[in-house]
Amino acid sequence: MSCDFRALATPGVQKLTPYQTGKPEDELQRELGLSRVVKLASNENPLGPGRAALHAARKALESMHRYPDGAGFYLKQALHETLGVAPTCITLGNGSNDVLELIARAFTLPGDEIVFSEHAFAVYPLATLACSAVPVAVPARLFGHDLEAMAAAVTERTRVIFVANPNNPTGTWFHRHALESFLEQVPERVVVVLDEAYFEYVQETDYPNGLDYLSRFPNLVVTRTFSKIHGLAGLRIGYGISSEAIADVLNRVRQPFNANAPALAAAQAALADESYVRDSRDLNTAGLAQLAEGLQARDLHFIPSVANFLCFDCGAPAEPLYRQLLAKGIIVRPVAGYGLPNHLRVSVGLAEENAAFLAALDEVCADG
Ligand SMILES: *Cc1c(COP(=O)(O)O)cnc(C)c1O
Repeated sequence: MSCDFRALATPGVQKLTPYQTGKPEDELQRELGLSRVVKLASNENPLGPGRAALHAARKALESMHRYPDGAGFYLKQALHETLGVAPTCITLGNGSNDVLELIARAFTLPGDEIVFSEHAFAVYPLATLACSAVPVAVPARLFGHDLEAMAAAVTERTRVIFVANPNNPTGTWFHRHALESFLEQVPERVVVVLDEAYFEYVQETDYPNGLDYLSRFPNLVVTRTFSKIHGLAGLRIGYGISSEAIADVLNRVRQPFNANAPALAAAQAALADESYVRDSRDLNTAGLAQLAEGLQARDLHFIPSVANFLCFDCGAPAEPLYRQLLAKGIIVRPVAGYGLPNHLRVSVGLAEENAAFLAALDEVCADG
């Protein structure tokens, strides 16, 4: 007889459904016998790596027998110069995902509550359950965050609130004044995490910059990442910006070397590579319009998005369409796990990739 290790896991871990990742592209291509695969499933930068970042990462590999700089001195300095935030207020992470988990771990005991929105980023419930904290999912409004209801969901036991602006997988966002009144309503003892993974893509005039609120709200943590517009998803590097007091708490629970050396070096180079960021943003603006027009022309409704993806309504359970697209070598993301069983999320790709996706939709419809 062997132990029931599942039963020995903490209560939250027993309830946890692991994050779903797709098959490696190469494997899919081999299995389906396809000549090419178009991956529009993970909101990655379709431009490929930036030259400067690639060069910096390669150079860093030459010292891979050494531990990385555990304090991330140079990257924090570069972030300080670019964003105007003190290095002591920055927490680096193995992706911003790492920072989200550090926050949950540092501030919750089993039974404490963490509030987030329905249809919000999958990592919020994962980070919550991993600590055996209680997830409180507040119903969405028009697929977006209902910030009023989220503030009203705070109880004595609430320790953390996660909000994403814009949100993934819906692409929805909230205005400056909505954020302000939300922050004013939340008690200071509750840590508010403002996840700005897609910040650099957004061009709406009323879109708030979370950094503007840090001095007024010491309970605020803004998280950002190098995975999206900076094109470093595979290296795993992101960061949180907060009051020094919160950064000090997070520094206590992070692994001493949570950010690896090639990632630190590449991130520093990527931050300085303004033309790569500009090109990426321009490509995205055009690609988002291309996808929106293409979906509209096919009578497929989508949720208006300011990020680098669109979530569209298939009008019926989306799984069959997902499979049919997959068979044609187009990988998109089912979002049933986010409470959106009829939707699929498609990331903005290169113009020809977006066109291949739209053409595959037509073929699928023609196939019946
Ligand atoms: C992609 C994404 C992140 C970033 O994840 P990394 O761990 O930095 O790669 C964070 N939040 C949201 C909402 C995302 O979509």
